[in-house]
Amino acid sequence: MPKGVLVDVSRCIGCRSCQVACKSWNDLPATPTGFNNNWDNPPDLTATNWTRVGYHLIEKEGQLKWRFVKTQCMHCDEPACESACFTHSFVKTKEGAVIYKPTELNQDYCVGCRYCMIACPFSVPKFEWDKAFPFVRKCRFCYDRMKEGDKPACVTTCPTGALQFGEREEILAEAHQRIDSNPNYIKHVYGEKEYGGTSWMYISDVPFEELGFKTNVSEKPIPLYSWDILKWTPWIFVGWGAILTALYTYNKRRAEVHHEEEMYAPVQDEE
Ligand code: SF4
Ligand code: SF4
Ligand code: SF4
Repeated sequence: MPKGVLVDVSRCIGCRSCQVACKSWNDLPATPTGFNNNWDNPPDLTATNWTRVGYHLIEKEGQLKWRFVKTQCMHCDEPACESACFTHSFVKTKEGAVIYKPTELNQDYCVGCRYCMIACPFSVPKFEWDKAFPFVRKCRFCYDRMKEGDKPACVTTCPTGALQFGEREEILAEAHQRIDSNPNYIKHVYGEKEYGGTSWMYISDVPFEELGFKTNVSEKPIPLYSWDILKWTPWIFVGWGAILTALYTYNKRRAEVHHEEEMYAPVQDEE
């Protein structure tokens, strides 16, 4: 059964424990911080920041109030990143996690074309621009923990219950139960239907558009049309196929000299 996470924005206090837990569990390096024009830190997802909590000062019932929104890969039911990748470097597992084979399964398919980054409607995958042998990085839904029956690290550490992990169907039912029983909630579960549905879903007591969510988006999965768009990108006109073939050859050679230790057992019995 596919898993899911319910993010209840009204319960998040912006403590960023989830950010720290993600860094810790996934052995990601600390990111130097600095002053900027908002409260967000880090300001965006990066190859070493797989989740972040955005700070939003909004007006509600005549008062200014803070709301905090944790973001990460949404683990789409029909992922655009997976469909855009012609080397099949992404896979949607039966548990719901969308994982990236070059790092998760030590299968070095990625040629670095970054079509996945263009295709993702949530701007999630990030490239290791500073690495000699770069990978695409993003939240992996703590697939290693999930396979052991554990919750994601970020969910485990959340002190307020703002994050709830479980079977997607049960999580969805819980989301509807909460918004139906409390008039403070917006009557919408973000992620239930957006882009065909996602494993991570959100409920909120303020309108989603005020929290930076893309609203009024298609309920149609992007894979149904993403490749039709991507295939007409200007790269085609400069022999992109030939370039990718050269990259693939280069990448295969790289795999021979640059092995990472295999992290998880291969995914089997995909549905
Ligand atoms: S949010 Fe983006 S990276 Fe994550 S599964 Fe969906 S399309 Fe892929
Ligand atoms: S599910 Fe795991 S990888 Fe994803 S944000 Fe949470 S801790 Fe990070
Ligand atoms: S750990 Fe929980 S309460 Fe703290 S910022 Fe993350 S989601 Fe919000």
